[in-house]
Amino acid sequence: MNRLQYQQERNELLQTAQEIFSSGLVSGTWGNVSLRVSGQGLMLITPSGMDYNQMDAEDMVLLDGEEKVLAGKYKPSVETPLHLGIYKKRPEINAIVHVHSLYATAFAVARQNIPVILEEAAQVIGHEVRVAPYALCGSRQLAENVLKVLGKDKRAVLLANHGLLGLGGNLPEALRVCLVAERTARIAIYSRILGPLHSLRAEDILSLRQVFENYGQKKD
Ligand SMILES: [Zn+2]
Repeated sequence: MNRLQYQQERNELLQTAQEIFSSGLVSGTWGNVSLRVSGQGLMLITPSGMDYNQMDAEDMVLLDGEEKVLAGKYKPSVETPLHLGIYKKRPEINAIVHVHSLYATAFAVARQNIPVILEEAAQVIGHEVRVAPYALCGSRQLAENVLKVLGKDKRAVLLANHGLLGLGGNLPEALRVCLVAERTARIAIYSRILGPLHSLRAEDILSLRQVFENYGQKKD
């Protein structure tokens, strides 16, 4: 067999998939991760229903924009239409992480938005995480509902009675969106036990987000 295409991207995807499992954002075979293959209009996605510990880089499924499998011996994740729909609508997004983490999913079940109560949520996400109306997992209706809530610039969305989706320019970014949304949801629930929540003000959220986007060591 020929050496598979996109070996580096396959390795990165596998690493992120194993990270959502080891960090407890998913259990069993739930959740999925995908990566746009740069400039090709193609997507690599985790296979459907496979143990994260059993997955190899060559098990990642390569598809075109019409959901046609180009390489891979397993079926792609059932949420393929959702991932492809996002890549078509959002050219700046190159990676998507979908998890069923406990605290974010509690918000998704209560059908309440995760408020922006932490600076890191303002920095990494920059908005409340809203809830997309319920539709069956894997359905085109779910993809439609999610796309509507994500609009042109949202980076995270809750799926009613289901879980959380994080978007990013690359895999570490998409994973970080999920980790921060989960931590924010957890702290929001604990804080409510103590009393009412206080969200950050819109202008502070905006300036935190802007500073974060220009933060770090830039190579220029
Ligand atoms: Zn799911």
